[in-house]
Amino acid sequence: MTIINWHDRAAHLKIDGRALIGGQRVWPRNEQRFDKTSPIDGRKLAEVARCGSADVDAAVAAARAAFDDGRWASVAPAQRKRTLIRFADLMVQHQEELALLETLDMGKPIKYSQSVDVALAANCIRWYGEAIDKIYDEIAPTAANSLALVTREPVGVVGAIIPWNYPMLMAAWKIGPALAAGNSVVLKPSEKAPLTSMRLAELALEAGIPAGVFNVVPGFGNEAGSALALHMDVDTIGFTGSTRTGKLIMQMAGQSNLKRAWTELGGKSANIVCADCPDLDAAVSAAIGSIYFNQGESCNAPSRLFVEESIRDAFIEKALKLIPSHMPGDPLDSATEMGALVDDQQMNTVLGYIESGKSEGARLLAGGERVRMETGGYYVAPTLFDQVSQNMRIAQEEIFGPVLSVLTFNDVHEAVRQANATPYGLHAAVWTANLSKAIQVSRALRAGTVHVNQYDGDDITVPFGGYKQSGNGRDKSLHAFDKYTELKTTWIQVG
Ligand code: NAD
Repeated sequence: MTIINWHDRAAHLKIDGRALIGGQRVWPRNEQRFDKTSPIDGRKLAEVARCGSADVDAAVAAARAAFDDGRWASVAPAQRKRTLIRFADLMVQHQEELALLETLDMGKPIKYSQSVDVALAANCIRWYGEAIDKIYDEIAPTAANSLALVTREPVGVVGAIIPWNYPMLMAAWKIGPALAAGNSVVLKPSEKAPLTSMRLAELALEAGIPAGVFNVVPGFGNEAGSALALHMDVDTIGFTGSTRTGKLIMQMAGQSNLKRAWTELGGKSANIVCADCPDLDAAVSAAIGSIYFNQGESCNAPSRLFVEESIRDAFIEKALKLIPSHMPGDPLDSATEMGALVDDQQMNTVLGYIESGKSEGARLLAGGERVRMETGGYYVAPTLFDQVSQNMRIAQEEIFGPVLSVLTFNDVHEAVRQANATPYGLHAAVWTANLSKAIQVSRALRAGTVHVNQYDGDDITVPFGGYKQSGNGRDKSLHAFDKYTELKTTWIQVG
């Protein structure tokens, strides 16, 4: 096996920060750009197009023209399938470049950019490509002298706005089903990690997705993002990001053309470990591995641990032994488990929550500080708080960093009540050897996904989304087609 020198690769990487509109790489009409720096060391990576409403207008017009003339929407599903599979193959061929861009852009360890982000994003595109020629329309059982066809049609122009924590994967979750269904897309990546989105759109062109079908307008949320959400010629907006912005997106959809607005939002997921947990080591390893994965910048991170009082000490002792293996390291070193937070703003938010935990009386057992300052990057040590109570900010608010809050319980019903007592409802877990307890607790948990005796279940075949203020849609699985298709009923008189 050849060992890649990622620093050397990074030094030779060419980064193009231009938008991609109508098949062309372009700078914004007003020539505005912003500097994209790397959270790994604070160095400038590239100038990136700061698109504004004129650029969004141009991208939506390109997408509309491509949709209306049927250059993609009218292509037979079997052909769209071949093109999407070619696109996925190209992603795999370029996996080292894509992984490097992702790591430099948002700070995650290179091994996970490769094995998780590129791998899952390519798999997502391939899966929707493969699915699209296996979905059949319906004939409804109506009267003998008529025929009613129920067909699924693309909605038209899809606007997609995504966050920075899994930039390539979040892009794939939107464009996979949207493109497979025959839509045109305008993607607005996060200003904090825009680079892989533009490269994906280039690879899509190379794969044969026609110009204008997949456009990317990098820029800021209150400029390019709001222009897209407010646009009168966008039919659906697929949004992933914070709950605060999700609410704005729904307002913008309502105040413009009433476009459908699908939101995938924040979380504060509860992980309930009962004393009869079948494998305490597995529970500890999943709790620790999942909260610190991706520097804690995962919407479904199990950031609240409810552990039954009688096993609390044993749990914490084991957890403290595992934590050092998650200390941040150089994201370009293939052995590193945890990388840099996305920018100084996010790092300061996380450090602010750590201070609030301390001042509200939680007991800091590990981490709690910035590390690797000499690199110029934004690293926070894996942090563990014990003696957290339900009313503390660290138990209620999404921190989106490597901070685990431990709460204890004696009655599992009380744990469930507290688990449900936040505005969020994304993921949850319960660990118990008692099957009926597992089923009762998972039924009572108000969350889009519940794990039993594990936390890492993930597959493109199953929906991903939240209850309550964690959003109103589902990404992944065949259910995602519901977001990007219209149902049409056609009545035909027979005889
Ligand atoms: P964010 O809401 O700040 O930004 C998300 C996107 O919205 C970015 O592209 C941003 O530029 C854009 N945006 C910001 N303000 C806007 C505005 N006024 N109008 C239009 N667009 C605007 O979120 P973030 O910090 O990028 O991402 C982190 C959040 O995303 C966390 O809350 C996390 O839980 C959530 N998330 C959810 C899922 C999920 O599937 N539920 C997945 C990943 C991340």
